[in-house]
Amino acid sequence: MKLTDTKNIMVYVETKDGAPVSVALESLAEAREIADERKEEVLAVVIGKKDDVVVNTVIEAGADKVIIVEEESYLFEKYAGILKELVKKYKPSIFMAGATLAGKDLTPMVAKEFETLSAVDVLNIRIDGEKVVLTCPVYGGTILNDIVMNTTPIVMTVRPGSFSKNIVAGRKGEVIKEEIAVPESVILSKIVDIIKEVAETVNLEEADVIVSGGRGMGSKENFQLVQELADICGGVVGATRPAIEDEWVPRSHQVGQSGKIVAPKLYIACGISGATQHISGMIGSGYIVAINKDEDAPIFDVADVGIVGDATKVIPLLIEEIKKL
Ligand code: FAD
Repeated sequence: MKLTDTKNIMVYVETKDGAPVSVALESLAEAREIADERKEEVLAVVIGKKDDVVVNTVIEAGADKVIIVEEESYLFEKYAGILKELVKKYKPSIFMAGATLAGKDLTPMVAKEFETLSAVDVLNIRIDGEKVVLTCPVYGGTILNDIVMNTTPIVMTVRPGSFSKNIVAGRKGEVIKEEIAVPESVILSKIVDIIKEVAETVNLEEADVIVSGGRGMGSKENFQLVQELADICGGVVGATRPAIEDEWVPRSHQVGQSGKIVAPKLYIACGISGATQHISGMIGSGYIVAINKDEDAPIFDVADVGIVGDATKVIPLLIEEIKKL
């Protein structure tokens, strides 16, 4: 189908602890903007129990219609099957999901069904007639690649923090209930138990302030300073892979290519060199402060403010100054 023949944009709204994840609301805002220009509708898909709070949030974030499919906990084959059926039925021009673990799990299945590609970690969307140009980071974020797509549906995951939410209180929308039975034969996995790791309570993706520590903190004891600075700033702790491997903090705190992609308003990097695999996970941050004793450390290339010094001495001074505020 040609892009100009389509009537809607579909956004998969992932929920966590009873609320849509941030990137879903950001995707809805971007979908709304494109839909307004092209006179299309925004369809949001929520899989789970019907929840009025979630529905209202999704509508206020930009959806014209919220399609609810009642299902139990996340099961990859089932959710992918539901989304494929919805894309077949509603024929969107664009199908978006957040670049979360679930989003990256599901979008390739939707793309495969329609023999198209799934663009990953989209930072920008530009529509030019029949063509859609998607900007995506490659090589750990060191290069931005423009991908031109001209067959529908255009399937993508959206990188957290790339678009701004636009919640309009009181915006009206419609709820559609769909029942989709996914054949048992395609379901190859089953949930035996759901175990919530204690460490999983850290929600880096949604945090406004992240204080991250790297190998330069020197020891688990010194790493405690990172926690203290995070606490006093009302933020959460992030870490580089070496800090995780040295077991200074649990793996759920890892920021970067093989960890979490974050986009806080403030990111403070302490004793972090700035390897591309780390930068690619935090480059979307609003304001970056770096503390490193090496003035040539690559982290200073992406920092808004750089402090050259020993982090174990600079952090206590920062804490002292913040306490005075
Ligand atoms: P280092 O590179 O060793 O840097 C330590 C820094 O601390 C140095 O710049 C030094 O000058 C500074 N320093 C030392 N002492 C002090 C002090 N007292 N005060 C202030 N500064 C000090 N890494 C990630 O972080 N996240 C990922 O998701 C990730 N994924 C990866 C995936 C792959 C496939 C691969 C190959 C690697 C990945 N890495 C990842 C590892 C990455 O390549 C780097 O090795 C890592 O990010 C470096 O961490 P670091 O900055 O803590 O350590």
